[in-house]
Amino acid sequence: MLKIENLHATVEDTEILKGVDLEVNAGEVHAIMGPNGSGKSTLASVLAGREDYEVTDGKVTFEGEDLLEMDVAERACAGLFLGFQYPVEIPGVSNLYMLRAALNARRAARGEDEIDAMEFMERVNEKIAFVDMSPEMAKRGVNEGFSGGEKKRNEVFQMLMLEPKLAILDETDSGLDIDALKTVAKGINALRSPERATILVTHYKRLLEHVVPDKVHVLAGGRIVRSGGPELADELEAEGYAGIARDNREQATAS
Ligand code: ADP
Ligand code: MG
Repeated sequence: MLKIENLHATVEDTEILKGVDLEVNAGEVHAIMGPNGSGKSTLASVLAGREDYEVTDGKVTFEGEDLLEMDVAERACAGLFLGFQYPVEIPGVSNLYMLRAALNARRAARGEDEIDAMEFMERVNEKIAFVDMSPEMAKRGVNEGFSGGEKKRNEVFQMLMLEPKLAILDETDSGLDIDALKTVAKGINALRSPERATILVTHYKRLLEHVVPDKVHVLAGGRIVRSGGPELADELEAEGYAGIARDNREQATAS
């Protein structure tokens, strides 16, 4: 589904991604862990097509198409979803208005009619109940006055409404209490299917106890330096990133 080869990207002329290679198949959940400032959010942003990030080398294909050639809207219509580490507030634009516009834009791209109002509201009610959000919150401005945890819950609500093929969730678990964490995990698990894939960017093993990933990768210094199964997260929890950073430095010196 997603193939990243030798991806290099810069932010304000500083190279952050220094040759990322990663392959995610349909049906898989991958976790990307790594120290602060290692480029995890940069990778997520580059995949979603956010401005300010310049790709200087490498290739990304999404379902066989050149992802980097697509603009943000085309990526969204193709089924990509980014859950932000720091969700933005958009006062004056209601959550539901935005979701309806997003769903309709995608339908239009597929040559389909606009979603029926009743069908839309049924879907909204089903999903807000699933994430345990109040109907009033769903109608408010996007994230307007939401607490940190409510914003993350809202990201999951949006994801469930849009049913992306590939969801990239950037620290959607950070700052959550245990109930909200379980809700977020439930939402991610609900979308697990042979046709979809998820990339979870996370610092903590906590989420991975509720959403068991197929693969875990460590991004450090702008590269994937280790990959393994779920047990790699246990190792990281026990030993931190210091050991991996050291192995990586030794490798770099040796090569
Ligand atoms: P992570 O998500 O792994 O903590 P980031 O991808 O957010 O790391 O950041 C990687 C590096 O890129 C950091 O040193 C950060 O300061 C820098 N960086 C990220 N975004 C910007 C930006 N918009 N302008 C300048 N520097 C940035
Ligand atoms: Mg980050």
